[in-house]
Amino acid sequence: MHVVHCRRTREEIALSRKTKPNSKNGLKATKRSITSAGETFADGAMIELVSGSSGFDKPDFLLWKGRKTTIGPHVEHGGCIYEVPELASSLYRATRLPSRCTDYGSARRLFAGIADVFKQHLDLPERESSLLACFSISTWLADQLPSAPSLAISGPDQELGIDVLRLFSCVCRHPLMLAEVTPVGFRSLPTQVSLTLLLDQQELKPKMQRLLRASKYRGLHLPGTRGDVIDLYGPKAIFCGNDAAVDTLGDGVIYISVIPSQLRSSPLDEQVQDDIANKFQPRLLMYRLKNSGRIRESRVDGSEFTFATRQLACTLGMCFPEDSKLARDTVQLLRPQDKEVRGKRSRDVNCAIIEILWALIHLRTQRQVKVDELAKDVNVLLQSRGEIIEYSAEEIGWKLKGLNIQRHSDRSGRQVLLERETSQSVHRLAQAYDLPCSQRVEAGCPDCNHTKTTLSK
Ligand SMILES: [Zn+2]
Repeated sequence: MHVVHCRRTREEIALSRKTKPNSKNGLKATKRSITSAGETFADGAMIELVSGSSGFDKPDFLLWKGRKTTIGPHVEHGGCIYEVPELASSLYRATRLPSRCTDYGSARRLFAGIADVFKQHLDLPERESSLLACFSISTWLADQLPSAPSLAISGPDQELGIDVLRLFSCVCRHPLMLAEVTPVGFRSLPTQVSLTLLLDQQELKPKMQRLLRASKYRGLHLPGTRGDVIDLYGPKAIFCGNDAAVDTLGDGVIYISVIPSQLRSSPLDEQVQDDIANKFQPRLLMYRLKNSGRIRESRVDGSEFTFATRQLACTLGMCFPEDSKLARDTVQLLRPQDKEVRGKRSRDVNCAIIEILWALIHLRTQRQVKVDELAKDVNVLLQSRGEIIEYSAEEIGWKLKGLNIQRHSDRSGRQVLLERETSQSVHRLAQAYDLPCSQRVEAGCPDCNHTKTTLSK
């Protein structure tokens, strides 16, 4: 994987730059003409794609300067003329653009309105509807966030899963619904426009999982086929019938399980979808215009969450700079998901090894532990937490190698010396894995004290 650091977002990179003669008053002035899919300027002005009035599969531009809004096939700002790119007509028809921007009242009102859409049309519970609203709003600010929000939906009813994606296509930014995407298809997706990908994937093969994980990070490009690089950073919602596959998407993903309800109201026909989109797309565009430059103002403390959820909590919290209470309430919606992470972590073999070594180091009754003794203790601990897999001494040896904990051999077999170097590694690992033991300071332990003082700096 090539890692390329790029200071500008994809939309800010003009697709082509050329100069255009301007013969106004007979003077030979030139104005730069830039083809672009959107721009964010240092003075706070922004250019956004809106649905075109020409009717020729071509979007228009909306130039926003705080109080003044201009719409047209090209707009002028800072001495340059910006022109909309040619989009494949199939893409233009498959995605959705707002026609204008309009006042949204308050962040709280917009949020509640979108959550209501999921409640009303799919009869989803409050927490799930609110998380879906939160994801929808985050897609409008994704290009400003440190990582793109991802959402995984699981559930037994494919029709319901697809209906969630349909509603997303009304309220997310530049939505594109796709089914059964392969790695090759994924790499050939159009990149001129920042899309919110809405995927129906009944299968998620390892290669596809890796690509989806990589595209969460801004600045991480994928190698192209012609010596070029592809930027597929962007928000994604994935409906996957297979719960196990959903789990493989990794940390920093909002997980939602949707259960069919008997009380589902009217079907989601095109007219219903258009009405929802016409109501919310212009409001959400205004939300983007007003809040894009403010997301750094929003600070949510995610320290109460596990490492796996913390970054996601902070990223989602950033999406509500104008209402810090709404940001905090939204982040709390991740609590049940985080609890599950903690439960899984307690059955993680690496965590069990660190916990046992931590206990032995602080007991100070022995100077070494044999790897097969350690394996027995790890298995007992894991079984007490409901794990059914049993690890051999050899497997525990490999895990120790992975954790970079030194093993030594003597006549009695492989062992771990419980000396200072091991203690330092175990303390660092306990901290990194966010284990409950790392919260304690054991009396007389220099490494406990050291970890605490380093953290408080
Ligand atoms: Zn200690």
